[in-house]
Amino acid sequence: MIKVGLMGGTFDPIHYGHLLAAETAREACGLDEIWFVPSYVPPLKPNEPGAGGDVRLEMVYRAIDFQPHFRAMDVELERGGISYSIDTVMELQALYPGRAFSYIIGSDRVNDLSSWHRSEELAKLVSFIGVERPGEPIDQSGLPSYIRERLTIVEMPLIEISSTDIRKRRSEDRSIRFMVPEKVYSFIMRNGLYES
Ligand code: ATP
Ligand code: MG
Repeated sequence: MIKVGLMGGTFDPIHYGHLLAAETAREACGLDEIWFVPSYVPPLKPNEPGAGGDVRLEMVYRAIDFQPHFRAMDVELERGGISYSIDTVMELQALYPGRAFSYIIGSDRVNDLSSWHRSEELAKLVSFIGVERPGEPIDQSGLPSYIRERLTIVEMPLIEISSTDIRKRRSEDRSIRFMVPEKVYSFIMRNGLYES
């Protein structure tokens, strides 16, 4: 079985927190590949993404660039509607047999795993790799056993970067340089993304 880590997210925009989480999980869990899957409409998020799907996907391509283990997948953007992970996993398993999938998620998403759409079924299809985010300790005791049994926590240097903060900085005309890869930075600046 080829071990694939799925990095789902809005990536609005993609930043170094996402990339380091992916690389840390890859090394710690011996994953063969990481697939970045931008959501069309993310569940559980109140606001629509600031940038369109094509633009967010383009930034993912620029961020992963020539990394040999990293790929971008447009399944959720192509499917449209609310991007439920269970639908994505079932689609990917049908399209790409012979792979074992796991979801790489930050601690904010680990703590709300049981509220994911059809989470019990999802936990039968994939395992979860959790990484900590600053100010968001992982509380395993709050998770149901069907998730705890499928969850591995890996240590990563805490990265206090979020897409929300990047969008806020842009709207206030403050710098986001070195929070995102240079090719993402130049794309954001050239296209005036997230300006107020
Ligand atoms: P937003 O502020 O818009 O929610 P975000 O920075 O949280 O953006 P998402 O696209 O929502 O990014 O996150 C995708 C995945 O990456 C989630 O599992 C999230 O927990 C994880 N993640 C995001 N930022 C970090 C970070 N700095 N460290 C570790 N994991 C992160
Ligand atoms: Mg988020």
